[in-house]
Amino acid sequence: MEIDAAREVRTTCPYCGVGCGVLAKVAADGQVSVRGDPDHPANFGRLCSKGSALAETIDLDGRLLHPEISGRRAGWNEALDLVASTFSQTIAEHGPDSVAFYVSGQLLTEDYYVANKLMKGFIGSANIDTNSRLCMASSVAGHRRAFGSDTVPGTYEDFELADLIVLVGSNLAWCHPVLYQRIAAAREKRPGMKIVLIDPRRTMTADIADLHLAIAPDGDVALFTGLLAYLGQHNALDCGYISAHTAGFGQALFAASKLDLAGVAAATGLSEDELTRFYSLFAATAKTVTVYSQGVNQSSQGTDKVNAIINCHLATGRIGKPGAGPFSVTGQPNAMGGREVGGMANMLAAHMEIENPEHRDRVQRFWNAPAVAQKPGLKAVEMFQALADGRIKALWIMATNPVDSMPDADAVEAAIKACPFVVVSDVLTNTDTVRHAHVRLPAAAWGEKDGTVTNSERRISRQRAFLNLPGDARPDWWIVAEVGKRMGFGEAFSYSSLAEIFAEHAELSGFENDGARDFDIGAYAGIDAAGYRELAPFQWPAPSRQESDTLAGCNPSSIRFFADGNFYTPDRKARFIAIRPTVETRTSPDYPLILNTGRVRDHWHTMTRTGKSPRLSQHIAEPFVEIHPADAGHHGISDADIVRISSPRGDVLVRALVTARQRQGSLFAPMHWTDQFAARGRLDVLTAPLTDTISGQPALKHVAARIEKF
Ligand code: SF4
Repeated sequence: MEIDAAREVRTTCPYCGVGCGVLAKVAADGQVSVRGDPDHPANFGRLCSKGSALAETIDLDGRLLHPEISGRRAGWNEALDLVASTFSQTIAEHGPDSVAFYVSGQLLTEDYYVANKLMKGFIGSANIDTNSRLCMASSVAGHRRAFGSDTVPGTYEDFELADLIVLVGSNLAWCHPVLYQRIAAAREKRPGMKIVLIDPRRTMTADIADLHLAIAPDGDVALFTGLLAYLGQHNALDCGYISAHTAGFGQALFAASKLDLAGVAAATGLSEDELTRFYSLFAATAKTVTVYSQGVNQSSQGTDKVNAIINCHLATGRIGKPGAGPFSVTGQPNAMGGREVGGMANMLAAHMEIENPEHRDRVQRFWNAPAVAQKPGLKAVEMFQALADGRIKALWIMATNPVDSMPDADAVEAAIKACPFVVVSDVLTNTDTVRHAHVRLPAAAWGEKDGTVTNSERRISRQRAFLNLPGDARPDWWIVAEVGKRMGFGEAFSYSSLAEIFAEHAELSGFENDGARDFDIGAYAGIDAAGYRELAPFQWPAPSRQESDTLAGCNPSSIRFFADGNFYTPDRKARFIAIRPTVETRTSPDYPLILNTGRVRDHWHTMTRTGKSPRLSQHIAEPFVEIHPADAGHHGISDADIVRISSPRGDVLVRALVTARQRQGSLFAPMHWTDQFAARGRLDVLTAPLTDTISGQPALKHVAARIEKF
């Protein structure tokens, strides 16, 4: 493809789930510049530090530019033939469940769609899971339990319309900065808007909060269960809404009433006064949005946390209305798109359910597929455990770096090393995962590839290429489709354009969908290449469904679900979930502290891109651990000391940052640094492969640890 260098190209940022619009331009001398797209409804021209530095991360240094087999350069035909024949042979000898794909929220929706179609429709296994499992699987499970569908009800506009924003387990100022900026700007216009932050440490987000509750790690279930009980005791329920649109309230309230205020205080580490301040504010504020992120999702109780929050919104009828609702902000740029195409081991395409025989039959007929998967596949943690014990014999990893990002990372690395056949599609030659691949496939990078992504408010936007493909690099959808053809499924994978894939995905979403499924962009089924090229950002459901789901009087470009009180359960009523908080003791005399993990403002994931920008590395140049002064004194640690943090699985060396912003008894360390950037800095060698039993999401947020001066 030849790129028109004189033109600004409208695309989207490849980092977080805010999904900001970006205008990218290539000057005559080849220099790339980016700026925020003033017309994109996610950011209206704003960009954060990471988005602004995108042009500094796209050079070809370290790029994987040619296919490689066992370290030697190969041609595409040889590499694709080898991948296809090895997967086919493994399936023939050991069955379809002996192979797996581990994919990524970095993939574009079209890439994801083709990979999911190959595994679930043609190979006949559901062993395709994604690093989005690490990010928001608990929200998916919570949505499905409460709403009967994986639906984010609200929009970003609700953040600006709310009178109270409750941020739970979210350092929005650093992790979703443009949403933080939108809230800050709205608050400046309406100073009466209140913000509550619920987070074990005093993050930068706390600086804007009227109330910061420094909750004990995993205290969220008790906090929101206690809130439900408080709402019941203080006449703050919307009884009309509960009886007309929900089921299960009595059981949920009964379970919540087992915990009195003193019990909540004990479970959360908060004072009764702090709890009462928060509860009374929530009870009195109709326009409340509860925004939650990894502090909620990355927990062994993640799904219960999500439902404890949703229970409080259902009990007050605060859902589907302007300025009100529970809101999960996703970490990855296309976690939502992956969900839409069924790119998780327990879902089918177009939000259909793998356990539902009618859904399997529908997908089989639509794809004319020979072998639709009949049962859920292995979720991320299970997948790498199956790799370790030999059940998975061929693995294809796309656009992600599990050797550094999975919990119990050393065990994951050992499992990958021991696997007989590992394929990695990536843009770089030197990640800790790519190094272990038998076959390396050069993928197209941001700026070189086209497709769509969906952000946290269900808004589908185009990513557009503005650079030519370097070397032999190819888009992920093309690579997967070529393997599909070589495995004998030519007819189903003979796509001639991206528009064709998007149109097929849209058509499937509307196929035999009479309103019983939430995800429906069937109106785009007939899109042609020109329409796809010019596609403007839009929220689903597609226009034909929008009228019934939108409240009159709000921005017509912001589409809310559940405005009419109808959900996607068989009786159209939302479900309360009866939840009893459980207290897990993680610490022990050997590991007396809780290590919380998270992110810093200017880095992304395992730094494979942001690590290239000197500007981004200026903000925080090395891995660190925050420790409360009292804990530091107890362990003989001074500010700036090099310390060793240990868990039962390993240890890392980082610099100590002694600060009262940190909760006593807890540590905080970011997850970005790998051995490439800091010796013994891989934080996820410490975390445990413990998961939420409902969602399968790893409890990456914290682990028991000890600390000592090095
Ligand atoms: Fe990119 Fe997220 Fe920053 Fe927007 S807020 S520019 S999507 S990293």
